[in-house]
Amino acid sequence: MKYDVVIIGAGPGGIFSAYELAKKSKLKVAVLETGSALEKRHCPIDGKKIKSCINCKVCSVMNGFGGAGAFSDGKYNITNDFGGSLHEYIGREKALELMHYVDEINVSHGGENTTIYSTAGTELKKICMQNKLTLLDASVRHLGTDINYIVLKNIYDELKERIDFYFDTPVTKVKILKNGYRAVTEKGNFDCKICIVSVGRSGSHWLEEVCKDLDIPTRSNRVDIGARVELPAPIFAHITDELYESKIVYRTQKYEDNVRTFCMNPRGFVVNENTNGIITVNGHSFEDESKKTENTNFALLVSKHFSEPFKDSNGYAESIAKLSNMLGGGVIIQRFGDLERGRRSTQKRIDEGTVRPTLQATPGDLSLVLPKRILDGIIEMIYAIDSIAPGTANDDTLLYGVEVKFYNMGVDVDCNLETKYKGLYVIGDGSGVTHSLSHASASGVFVADRILEEK
Ligand SMILES: Cc1cc2nc3c(=O)[nH]c(=O)nc-3n(C[C@H](O)[C@H](O)[C@H](O)COP(=O)(O)OP(=O)(O)OC[C@H]3O[C@@H](n4cnc5c(N)ncnc54)[C@H](O)[C@@H]3O)c2cc1C
Repeated sequence: MKYDVVIIGAGPGGIFSAYELAKKSKLKVAVLETGSALEKRHCPIDGKKIKSCINCKVCSVMNGFGGAGAFSDGKYNITNDFGGSLHEYIGREKALELMHYVDEINVSHGGENTTIYSTAGTELKKICMQNKLTLLDASVRHLGTDINYIVLKNIYDELKERIDFYFDTPVTKVKILKNGYRAVTEKGNFDCKICIVSVGRSGSHWLEEVCKDLDIPTRSNRVDIGARVELPAPIFAHITDELYESKIVYRTQKYEDNVRTFCMNPRGFVVNENTNGIITVNGHSFEDESKKTENTNFALLVSKHFSEPFKDSNGYAESIAKLSNMLGGGVIIQRFGDLERGRRSTQKRIDEGTVRPTLQATPGDLSLVLPKRILDGIIEMIYAIDSIAPGTANDDTLLYGVEVKFYNMGVDVDCNLETKYKGLYVIGDGSGVTHSLSHASASGVFVADRILEEK
């Protein structure tokens, strides 16, 4: 099968490349995707018969049209302060311009009634400063899991007329041809002049192999490790009502490590996440009032960068996550009061607590899993946040672990996100350049525009 452009991966990066190419050119484009079409993506966990992850061969939460973002909270953060380092490649102004462009597309495909929140002019900034916390600047469009799905569906319905989508079609190899590239799959070979690789976090191991094969330099990246906090929504309502999502950073007194809040879900759910068979925790929420819960959740993460000789930062975090999987059969849940008293949580203690968990996880002891330095940082930050949101450090506050934010290794790409091979681009989270919906999507638009400019 011959195409002008083959896109590997139908996550936000791949989708927005496809969108841009479909809108602005007549190029023949194929998208190859390991997972299924959007409507066929179903996680078997139903909370009744199947309560926890059963390690499906292809995880429906991470793979398929929409990528890892399909069932996410759909928080599109428009900022250069976090979510990736796209601006280091394409410039701050361009990166913001493209994130706004992506926002317009989302809004015009079903997101028109959603809200954009902003930290501009908020009192909270000063209150944070007065309490040794830093609030990062951002605007965030919250689509919510339900509207995010509708937006994706509308975009797909439009794209499928112009683009050939091949679902359940994992690419096994990328080969270099005389005049382009070959994506090898069990369903046949797809030859193209230009290849955009956008395989996200779930494709990280595969991409590592591809880079080794093609001798594309890579570098190790950081990894963020921590726990997800769940507490009654009113405790955080004064923050979430105004900002929805706030990225707050705290520098610990003990080690001078930075601990930050991540992925805040007002009145949302805590969920399992399966990356390459390892179960960690994440969160999301719905825009629909009837699907909201009584709790708010967010992660507290500590970044780890390793220096020589150690390179495998993801491997380090995987080992910690595996430890929690070994002890808890998946995610571990613990009351903050139990953690502080040095004892495990039991189902009885959780049931007696005032916070009703939104994820069924195994009661246990996170101090047996998380390294002391990381756990100390999390505990310190919980007390720091308690000064701006009293009640955060309550005994019944729930902690789920572990939460890991894997960063793909950095792939050596230039300021066009192109590898040393002309016409072979690596974008989105798979490139290590981005790690969010808005940055990944913007990288997709950027590369498509570069391809069109060069034609
Ligand atoms: C539960 C959850 C909630 C999240 N919430 C948010 C949020 O609110 N805001 C935010 O900014 N970010 C959020 N994220 C992160 C966000 O989803 C990612 O940053 C984003 O999806 C990255 O886009 P991507 O296109 O680079 O990769 P992905 O979305 O990971 O897509 C990559 C696609 O490539 C496919 N693929 C992989 N390997 C191959 C192969 N060999 N052949 C063919 N296809 C392949 C995969 O199946 C996948 O569909 C969340 C993530 C999760 C898991």
